[in-house]
Amino acid sequence: MITFTPLGGAHEIGANAYYLNIDGTGILLDCGMHPKNKGVKAVPDFEYLNHQPLDYVIISHAHSDHIGSLPYLIQQFPHVKILMTVQTREIASITLHNTVNILKETFTDTFGIQPYTHEEIDLLVRSVIDYNYGVSFEIKGLLHNSETSIQVIFYDAGHILGSAGILIEYGHERMFYTGDTRKNKQVILNGADYPEHRITTLIMESTYGAVDSGTLNSWKDEFKEFCSKANKILEAGGSILIPVFALGKTQEILAGITDLLRRGKLNDCTIYSGGIGPKISNVYDSNRYLVKRNSKELELKDLPQINLYDITNTNDFFRKPGIVLAPGGMLDEKTFAYKIVRDFLRSKNSAIFLVGYIDPESPGASLLDAAKGDKIKLISEEVPIEVKCKIEKFHFPSHSSKEELLELVDKLKPEKVILLHGDEAAISNLGYNILQKFNGVKLYSAELGKTIIIDEE
Ligand SMILES: [Zn+2]
Ligand SMILES: [Zn+2]
Repeated sequence: MITFTPLGGAHEIGANAYYLNIDGTGILLDCGMHPKNKGVKAVPDFEYLNHQPLDYVIISHAHSDHIGSLPYLIQQFPHVKILMTVQTREIASITLHNTVNILKETFTDTFGIQPYTHEEIDLLVRSVIDYNYGVSFEIKGLLHNSETSIQVIFYDAGHILGSAGILIEYGHERMFYTGDTRKNKQVILNGADYPEHRITTLIMESTYGAVDSGTLNSWKDEFKEFCSKANKILEAGGSILIPVFALGKTQEILAGITDLLRRGKLNDCTIYSGGIGPKISNVYDSNRYLVKRNSKELELKDLPQINLYDITNTNDFFRKPGIVLAPGGMLDEKTFAYKIVRDFLRSKNSAIFLVGYIDPESPGASLLDAAKGDKIKLISEEVPIEVKCKIEKFHFPSHSSKEELLELVDKLKPEKVILLHGDEAAISNLGYNILQKFNGVKLYSAELGKTIIIDEE
């Protein structure tokens, strides 16, 4: 019998964690932390595992909503084997240590759990068993009650460095969990690989399930827009703030800027970066020959960057035209982007470029529809501030579009599709399209704590 039970992040982008029981072998796919909730509410519901075997946790990639709660899982289930790609392990050792620092700052006694420690992370990273893409390996739980073995293969998911789609083969069952997936190119990453043969069950992310991408630009065209808008600001002597996530988006945007500067398209300017972004950029550089990439020659360290954290007076950002890649893609409080955003809002020659997803409830959401002259509040308790700078929005997705997800269903021809990692609108829209296009597919929407039977035998 094969069952599938979400312990978090089913119909939202939350504490993604999905429990698979394959004839007594217990596998947790991902173990994330909810980006908005705090304390116990940010962690997947591990209660469920108390009555079930758990032998392995397989991590699709190092974004916090997929790996952030792993240290808590290991506290409760120390025997569990941790599997991930080589690059995810390398990145996780940076991001999980960084999470320790964030948790220490934000957790109070009321949250019901303690922050994990740097020592725990060191041990955890050392105990990881890592694999390269395309290598088939066998797993078997302590209570596995069949002669048939379970084979696992990681496929490059094209989402961030190290990201993997996970194929699990067991007898006639071929289950594929996409993790976060991006079929098309970004600047550095070259898009996802998928299994060549038909699968039986597709467990698929749905992030952009409700977005029609017909009118949206490719990354290449979007960078042309970016470049012409950036040049206008830089020529007027202004600077540009780009609030950005440290892992993935920072490296892709830096690579895009490097390319524009090399080709003489973008005006010369000072580039600022900082936090863990540059450390992760080093991992991107050092793995450039080991993974599928657009340009293996491109090294992010070749682009001169000033460390944000060395700037003690924020006026320095405006003395000469510059581009500031500040950690904090959604301008959450305590991030560097949040700290300096008001200086940019007040600077009439300058601009704020939004390049990624912003949650409607985050401080960054107040910028989404704001224009020059508007008065906005980033957090409810502050005095409104007038927007004097330009605000521009760009679309640089690291997930597949709805159309690409539908193509994936067409390619893999699954009997069952389980949709997850998307809001209600995304899942219902994508689900509707799947049912319209593919006759006979059994469609499920993942629900917290609700078990789906994948195979009854
Ligand atoms: Zn991700
Ligand atoms: Zn995710």
